[in-house]
Amino acid sequence: MTSALLDTFGRVATDLRVSLTDRCNLRCTYCMPAEGLARLPKPELLTDDEVLRLIEVAVTLLGITEVRFTGGEPLVRRGVVDIIRRTAQLAPRPTISATTNGIGLARTAGALRDAGLDRVNVSLDTLSETVFAELTRRDRLADVPAGLAAASAVGLAPVKVNTVLMRGVNDHEASDILDYCLDHGFELRFIEHMPLDAQHQWSRETMVTAEEILERLSRRHTLSPELASIRGSAPAETFPVDGGPARVGVIASVTRPFCGSCDRTRLTADGRVRNCLFAQGETDLRGLLRAGASDEAIAQSWVGAMWAKQPGHGVNDVGYLQPDRPMSAIGG
Ligand code: SAM
Ligand code: SF4
Repeated sequence: MTSALLDTFGRVATDLRVSLTDRCNLRCTYCMPAEGLARLPKPELLTDDEVLRLIEVAVTLLGITEVRFTGGEPLVRRGVVDIIRRTAQLAPRPTISATTNGIGLARTAGALRDAGLDRVNVSLDTLSETVFAELTRRDRLADVPAGLAAASAVGLAPVKVNTVLMRGVNDHEASDILDYCLDHGFELRFIEHMPLDAQHQWSRETMVTAEEILERLSRRHTLSPELASIRGSAPAETFPVDGGPARVGVIASVTRPFCGSCDRTRLTADGRVRNCLFAQGETDLRGLLRAGASDEAIAQSWVGAMWAKQPGHGVNDVGYLQPDRPMSAIGG
């Protein structure tokens, strides 16, 4: 290892989030507009070989131990299985996970597992077909439970479920989604809505806070706040449900930020490093790579990008500015 991805506040990034594409087969209202969002032109996207080269630099030279594929929707990238297979061949082998909306997962779960995928997070915001169609602007709810079942059947354990609650849309379903996950053995984590939507329509009023989520869940279940997990670098604070062993998590990025223990670095589908989801700046590795730079030169540029990481995301500061890139293009 030549260097660690260290910043001036002493944090070390060991967890790499790779956005494989900014494209998606859903249009979740809290993430993307119905239409009109510009996509990255194909020549700007990293090729499979280029993605692999950068992951290899991160794993072999920069101390990355976990690689999570995301997007956009990572499963719409044609080379995803091969990219996972080649990532799993790196030494030391990183832990490999993916965050997906579950569309197509029923068909691909076995191949993804065989390629080396260790874990999967599936986004599910509602159990109602009507609400799903309203929230995602697509009529595909049935694909998601099918994908979850397939992930579980092929042993992508633990299967985690991500849920974003929107006030007046799906927030009445918090306990139903928890019951669904408890019944199926999935680990549920609620994520607070963050100001990263492409339409810039986020507001504190529509965001359902961690406190509210816990209050809603407590109407049906006993959560044990005194037994909450110590978050460390894990963003979710988890609570035993009805005495355990099942737990439910809340990722309170806005109301209880965990920036002080963040261990992440991000690579966009067009080859830019972001040291934070909310960062204003990016470091272009694709340019270096296409200009023939050595692995060491790419690694040093990545080190520089992380060194400049801010202490916190600043969402709660007066004058906070949303980054230009939306969540779907950064990689959530
Ligand atoms: N398409 C995949 C999916 O939906 O799981 C992966 C990418 S998506 C950007 C990753 C996660 O970010 C999903 O769980 C999604 O619900 C969440 N997400 C998207 N926009 C968000 C926002 N503005 N605030 C909080 N979470 C968001
Ligand atoms: Fe697509 Fe995921 Fe964004 Fe929904 S949250 S629009 S599934 S990228």
